[in-house]
Amino acid sequence: MPEAILEVKSLRTVFKDKHKELTVVDGIDFEIGPNEVVALVGESGCGKSMTSLSIMQLLPRSAEIAEGEVRYRGRNLVGMKNKEMAKLRGRHISMIFQEPMTSLNPVLTIGMQLTESIIRHLGVSKVEADTRADEWLKRVGFPEPARIRREFPHRLSGGMRQRVMLAMAMSCRPDLLIADEPTTALDVTIQAQVLDLIRELLKESDMSVLFITHDLGVVAEMATRVIVMYAGQIVETTDVRSLFQKPMHPYTKGLLNSTPRMKGDIEKLIPIAGSVPPAGMYPPGCRFADRCPLAEAVCRAEAPQLREVVPGHRVRCHLA
Ligand code: SF4
Repeated sequence: MPEAILEVKSLRTVFKDKHKELTVVDGIDFEIGPNEVVALVGESGCGKSMTSLSIMQLLPRSAEIAEGEVRYRGRNLVGMKNKEMAKLRGRHISMIFQEPMTSLNPVLTIGMQLTESIIRHLGVSKVEADTRADEWLKRVGFPEPARIRREFPHRLSGGMRQRVMLAMAMSCRPDLLIADEPTTALDVTIQAQVLDLIRELLKESDMSVLFITHDLGVVAEMATRVIVMYAGQIVETTDVRSLFQKPMHPYTKGLLNSTPRMKGDIEKLIPIAGSVPPAGMYPPGCRFADRCPLAEAVCRAEAPQLREVVPGHRVRCHLA
């Protein structure tokens, strides 16, 4: 197997104050190989975004990695000095968020932000950086890149800002793109454009992508492998085909049943009853037990372990 680009080992991330510690990512393990697209799925509050922020070492002040490792090409990023991490971010690992305004600086023009990153990471001249910025802006669908470079972020629509973010994330040709709900806030046409563009970039490079989403339609289109998270833990992981054809965890089945699919008729959607318990309020035993239609006494008494049920397909459920 080719060397993994990213290895996440026994990662545990907590929110901490003087009085208590809440575990929001609880001992997760996974890896991403070259040119692989791994989707991290689950409802809001499952720990997906905290996982991506842990990988990027961009956790909020009140959170920290309590245990585990995040290895990029073998180097552990946990505890890495800010200066070292800043060299990796943008150049080797890039991230795009659901709301691009979180990463665009409102008082700098698009051009200043785009070329600053290119000059810093690639060491090229200002003129060369402008040329590269224009190339990327054109690739993400701006026919007049020089005009867009002069604009401030607030003058662009949400879809335009997301495409600028993608240009910025891709301009240094990273190995790994972390895309956290990148299309959730976009209308369907722009969403399709952004996904097409990511697919194109995947074809022409060895880039790997960690796609964080609650949208199983996006997963089916983009991912090679899927990790389903629930209440801070991985509950199922397998290749994308097996996940859609033979889901094994009741939570995954619930997610699939609550996703619209067109098959001539509009199928009846069955939502999952209840909601994800907040960190610190997990029930004993299986964390999904209160919402699971199959729950038995053993589920409430014993926490299930993540185990390989068939080769390459791991499930955290007593009944799998
Ligand atoms: Fe449902 Fe029990 Fe499996 Fe948990 S362990 S998902 S409660 S069947």
